[in-house]
Amino acid sequence: AYDRTPLIAGNWKMNLDHHQAVTLVQKLSWTLTDADHDFEEVEVAVFPPFTDLRSVQTLVAGDRLPLAYGAQDLSAEDSGAFTGEVSGQFLAKLGCTYALVGHSERRTLNGEDDALVGRKLAAALRHGIAPILCVGEGLEVRRQGRQVEHTLAQLRGALEGLSPEQVAGLVVAYEPVWAIGTGEVAGPEDAQEMAAALRAELASLFGAETAAGLRLLYGGSVKSTNVASILREKDVDGVLVGGASLDEGEFASIVRFEH
Ligand code: PEP
Repeated sequence: AYDRTPLIAGNWKMNLDHHQAVTLVQKLSWTLTDADHDFEEVEVAVFPPFTDLRSVQTLVAGDRLPLAYGAQDLSAEDSGAFTGEVSGQFLAKLGCTYALVGHSERRTLNGEDDALVGRKLAAALRHGIAPILCVGEGLEVRRQGRQVEHTLAQLRGALEGLSPEQVAGLVVAYEPVWAIGTGEVAGPEDAQEMAAALRAELASLFGAETAAGLRLLYGGSVKSTNVASILREKDVDGVLVGGASLDEGEFASIVRFEH
């Protein structure tokens, strides 16, 4: 899967205090500026809580680090009476390259449906932020063998109304919910099966050229010990890492995967 630049993304979720967040970025900078490793070949991005973004921006710019960053969510609206929401406009000013959209925890805990996820995708794109659309089935759906059908329906629901030009700015992450934070990893062949199905669906909706250019990530209990086999799959162009992205040594090993 090295036709497209692999993206290694670390979703910190609601973890680390501000001091720990700054320290983690500083430690990561040693890895990313390691002269023995060619980081031109991979892109690394972190997704800290909103309250750390300004400091991450300062660190990355100050040290000229090859580290991208983004938000874990954004509002579907740009401004106005939306207490507690954070708009794509603000995130763009903080230098966010990416925003996660429709993470399974937001779908489950905050009731986000495909329609809202679609509006958030459009909001990110309006402000030049590349959304990482998260899709994936729960355990019950997997047991029934309906994972592809379910995940493609989420994809279609979220992308309804978007143009091929808009979709070209997107990343899609397949995250089977039963593999998130559980230690259960979908096998590389499961990740490939879904990535191929997603790419075929994207090709039929938006054209083969758009689909061929998009990066498709896998997420769910990725670690340094399984990352290489997952990234070797033809249609898997990166990983979205939760728990293992909080430990500098482990995340650095993931970033340095053998390829
Ligand atoms: C995630 O929540 O995006 C994720 C993949 O988590 P974990 O790696 O901890 O399973």
